[in-house]
Amino acid sequence: MVKLQVFFFPVMTHGHMIPILDMAKLFASRGVHSTIITTPLNAPAFAKGVQRTNDSGFQMSVKILEFPKVDGLPEGCENADQVTSPDMLPIFFTATKLLKDQLEQLLEEYRPNCLVADLFFPWATDSAAKFNIPRLVFHGSGFFASCAGEQVRLQRPFKNLTNGSDEFFVPNIPHKVKLCLSQIPPYVREEGETEFAKMLTEALESEWRSHGVIINSFYELEPEYADHYRNVLNGKAWHIGPLSLCNRSLEEKAQRGKQAAINADDCLKWLDSKSPNSVLYICFGSFTKFPNEQLHEIAMGLEASGQQFIWVLRKGTNDKESEEWMPEGFEERMIGKGLIIRGWAPQMLILDHEAIGGFVTHCGWNSTLEGIAAGVPMVTWPSFAEQFYNEKLITDILRIGVAVGAKEWVADSGGGNIKRDAVETAVRSIIIGEEAEERRNRCKGLKEMAKKAIEEGGSSYSGLNALIQELSLYPSSF
Ligand code: UDP
Repeated sequence: MVKLQVFFFPVMTHGHMIPILDMAKLFASRGVHSTIITTPLNAPAFAKGVQRTNDSGFQMSVKILEFPKVDGLPEGCENADQVTSPDMLPIFFTATKLLKDQLEQLLEEYRPNCLVADLFFPWATDSAAKFNIPRLVFHGSGFFASCAGEQVRLQRPFKNLTNGSDEFFVPNIPHKVKLCLSQIPPYVREEGETEFAKMLTEALESEWRSHGVIINSFYELEPEYADHYRNVLNGKAWHIGPLSLCNRSLEEKAQRGKQAAINADDCLKWLDSKSPNSVLYICFGSFTKFPNEQLHEIAMGLEASGQQFIWVLRKGTNDKESEEWMPEGFEERMIGKGLIIRGWAPQMLILDHEAIGGFVTHCGWNSTLEGIAAGVPMVTWPSFAEQFYNEKLITDILRIGVAVGAKEWVADSGGGNIKRDAVETAVRSIIIGEEAEERRNRCKGLKEMAKKAIEEGGSSYSGLNALIQELSLYPSSF
């Protein structure tokens, strides 16, 4: 039998590269030849995963496209998390459009059965169609955010509101979910005003025109919205997650994304010395960067809470950035109680440790689902993309989290308005008290469901079977 060949093309940002690598590994483990398309400086992030998959007797490869040279980006910037100001993001995404010819050459040469391309490459549908190759979308969000976001985009329930704090209900969805105007992204509020906004609107619309979407979620987590997506919005979707659970060994868990800034054994040893559910893990993903005043408030709130923590401080492109925001003597006072990781953390390894009792998260979908799969309650602190919807899923629908009170959508950086008292209250309430215990029990239930979903016969396992079966109906000349 001819092997199925699927090409995976993630946008160059870790929040998309990580789940797409997991997805490609998962496909490979079911006998598909998975190929990842990326650029030279992003290729190392895939190398170990690809090597390990091939060593296990499955087939995976990487194809490289040269990142286009454009003015306005720092030298060597091939990943969206390397841009040094939000104004550069539109330039970055415009540059990725110039990958079209190279992608088409690859498709023409290899003729895969299917191209799974990122939402941020709406043009890839036409590229694939030139060679009669179906294109599936990966957008990196869950069902709830997709449904709520689409209903808000289409119905514009905020259109008569003027103040940022004015509230509205998300229309036409199974739960009563309230948001305020300032939590809606400007590209949804102002529709197509800038080139970037147009690109994002085009990307969102291309989801509904595509052959279908692969969703990193599992049915039991958000069943009403998996149904709503298909039956009300008429989207075609396969749910095959949580993708992170395909990483089973300690090594795989420790090596996702970038090179970790802490040795995995040291990190585990530190956690081993703590009692169960007693440590907070604080990490805002690969992108969010807070202003100094906000970092100061976080430190003050953490110290006042008296809780133990691991805090991941994301470094910017400038390694010499000062830490003058840090309260004097903070790190010394926190020795034994708080561990600061400057740079990349082995997040999955940390979340899986029984000492972790709470996750302060920016509600990126990967982090959200990783927290759920690890059974960890969350303090929610969204700032951009679809994170405000993910927050509502966590706090209002699943009831496994406490909101810190972020109200403002701010592109690529967390806003600076959360005061130390709010941090203190939220982190204490996620670790201590009766409600914390109830939340923890709900989390345990979801963790079990997530595990079952990917096992043979589970909803995500069957979802992937159905998808592979459908793909095998598509021709390939590979
Ligand atoms: N991540 C990690 N270590 C870090 C920061 C992030 O392993 O120090 C991983 C995290 O586990 C997740 C991804 O990076 O898989 C971040 O994706 P998410 O959707 O949560 O947020 P984004 O970075 O896209 O804002």
